[in-house]
Amino acid sequence: MTEDHGRAWVELDFDALRQNVAALSRLLPAGCELMPALKANAYGHGAVPVARELERLGVRAFCVATAAEGVELRQNGVSGDILVLGGTPTRDVSLLRRFGLIQTVADAEDAVRLAACGIPLRVHLKLDTGMHRLGIDCADIEGIDRIFRQNNLLVDGIYTHICGDDMAKTQGERFWRAARALERRGLDCGKKHILASGGLLRYPELGGDYARVGVALYGVLSERGEPCPIPLRPVLSLKARVASVRDLPAGEGVGYGAEGAAPYERRIAALSIGYADGLPRALSNGRGGVLIRGAYAPILGRVCMDQTIVDVTSIPSVLQGDAAVVIGRSGAREITAYDLAEQAGSITNEILSRLGARVILGLV
Ligand SMILES: *Cc1c(COP(=O)(O)O)cnc(C)c1O
Repeated sequence: MTEDHGRAWVELDFDALRQNVAALSRLLPAGCELMPALKANAYGHGAVPVARELERLGVRAFCVATAAEGVELRQNGVSGDILVLGGTPTRDVSLLRRFGLIQTVADAEDAVRLAACGIPLRVHLKLDTGMHRLGIDCADIEGIDRIFRQNNLLVDGIYTHICGDDMAKTQGERFWRAARALERRGLDCGKKHILASGGLLRYPELGGDYARVGVALYGVLSERGEPCPIPLRPVLSLKARVASVRDLPAGEGVGYGAEGAAPYERRIAALSIGYADGLPRALSNGRGGVLIRGAYAPILGRVCMDQTIVDVTSIPSVLQGDAAVVIGRSGAREITAYDLAEQAGSITNEILSRLGARVILGLV
């Protein structure tokens, strides 16, 4: 029995985080600082412990998706700049001021609505340079100029988001053209930023004052095999408790639907982790597995909301209370976020960001 962390839990390797920060920092263009993305609970790692460690490492700016995520950081003593990347509903706008958060403005209507709240706000304008999701058309210099002149909006930065390798160069050109046009009109754009993980790793020459790095900071890229000029180490391990071990008679299936029957006796273990914790249900019936005592145990039957059954026939030493590794190392073997992403038909960002609050809460 290992130390009791509860039913399922995340472990963070801060040495890996430090190394990733150092390696990514070496790629930063001149004058550019890291602005780590701590949205979605720092991609499932736990926003507060990650932010605290990053502040110790000298990081001074962060970005999150929602005002509530920013408030959580402030309430836990994080003092750097915090940019809210998503929209904030009118009822929450006072939080932006109270907790000193910087709000993104993604279009002219948004600017008018925020200004009408009557609360002075620091804002960054999001420019659409080709992703066509949110943002003000970067060619609409008149429209952007009008936002600069709104009462109550203190424009402190402009930024854009790159949608993929093919568009990176074009988007960079469009962004800097807009920035120059605004500055020719005497508008001070403040901080200008373009790069996320892929941008910093592959197009650092696009420059800017911040690199809004998310997934790479956590030591993985979205998909296996993406070109990466630096070594990155995964920060997160995900583990679950073996809640029971039993022998399964020949011919019996397990779990909902009693699936996975086999014509021989097996030894099975129930793990206290399920899809509500972020273990994708798509890994049911052997598409995924875990490591116990350095050996692989395939998932048997369907992943449940809170529990998952694995086949431990080949690991006779398994005991109730053992830790099963869902992501991470056990002995000489490792299961990576890439493995889970591929088994689930997804990307590491989704696997990590969907790790349930239940597995992270224990950290804070
Ligand atoms: C999520 C996000 C990031 C971080 O992206 P990664 O690819 O994880 O580095 C940066 N900028 C914006 C606007 C985002 O939404």
